Amino acid sequence: MPIPLQDGWLYGPVDSRRYGRSLGVNPLPVDRKLCSLDCLYCQYGFTKAQEAAGRAELPGLDELKAAFEQEFSRLAAANDLPDRITVAGNGEPSLHPDFLEMSRALCASRDRHFPGASIGLLCNSMHLNRQDVVEAINGFYDEPAMKLEWGTAECFAAMNRVPASRFKALLSGLEKINRFVVQSLFMHSPHGDNSTNQEVSLWIEHLNHFREHIVRVELYSLDRPPADAAEATRLSVEELASIADRVSANGFEVEIY
Ligand code: SF4
Repeated sequence: MPIPLQDGWLYGPVDSRRYGRSLGVNPLPVDRKLCSLDCLYCQYGFTKAQEAAGRAELPGLDELKAAFEQEFSRLAAANDLPDRITVAGNGEPSLHPDFLEMSRALCASRDRHFPGASIGLLCNSMHLNRQDVVEAINGFYDEPAMKLEWGTAECFAAMNRVPASRFKALLSGLEKINRFVVQSLFMHSPHGDNSTNQEVSLWIEHLNHFREHIVRVELYSLDRPPADAAEATRLSVEELASIADRVSANGFEVEIY
C-alpha cells in the first residue's frame, strides 16, 4: 500500500538519523502526485493512477515565498532550527515552473533565519534540458541528490515507465550539474530489475563517466511498499552490500540506507 501524500508545502521539522533536524519543502500539489516518471517502486503509487485524483494545482511563487518567511521566522523564534532543508514533496520538484525563483527565495529565507542549515534536493534528473533548472541546482543546493540507477535505456524505460529514448537526454543533462550525490534505488520485479550483473556493471560505467561530478553514491532498496501491481521486492542486505562493495572498489564514497 502506498503512503499518503504530504498535505502541505512545508512539513516537519522532524528528527532524522541522516540529517539531524530536517524540514521538508513540497512545491507541488497537495492532492495528487505530479511527476514525469512513473516508477514501479514509488511510495506514492503509480503516477498515472494519480492523474485523475486531483487538480494538480501548484502553489504560486508568492505563496511559497510567504510560506517560507512565515514558517522560518516562527521556527527561529521558537529556536527550533533545522540542520537541513530538503526540497522533495509529492513528486518531482523541478516541475514547478518557477523552480529557479523558488530555490532563490528558499535560499534567501534560509540565510535570514537559519544560515547554518544546508539545502538538499531529491531530483529525478529528467528536466536538465531546462536551463533554469540547471541554474537553480548549481546555484542554490548544497547537496542535490540526482537519480541515476540504471545501466541500460531498456531498464530505465521498464522501471520508470517512460520511453527509452529519454535516457540519453537524462545522461547528457547530468553533465551540466557541477556536483551531485547519486541516488540509486535497486529492486527486483518481473517488470524491471536494475540489480542484475549486467545492469550494475553498466551503471558503474556511468558512475565512472561522471566521476568528477559525484560527491558520493547513496544506495537504497524498497523502504515503503509501492503499488501491488509493481510486484517489486527489496534486495537483501547482502545483495545491497555487494553492490556497495563494487562501487567502493571503483573509488567512490558509498552509503547504504
Ligand atoms: S521520481 Fe520519485 S516521485 Fe516520481 S515516480 Fe519516481 S519515486 Fe515517485
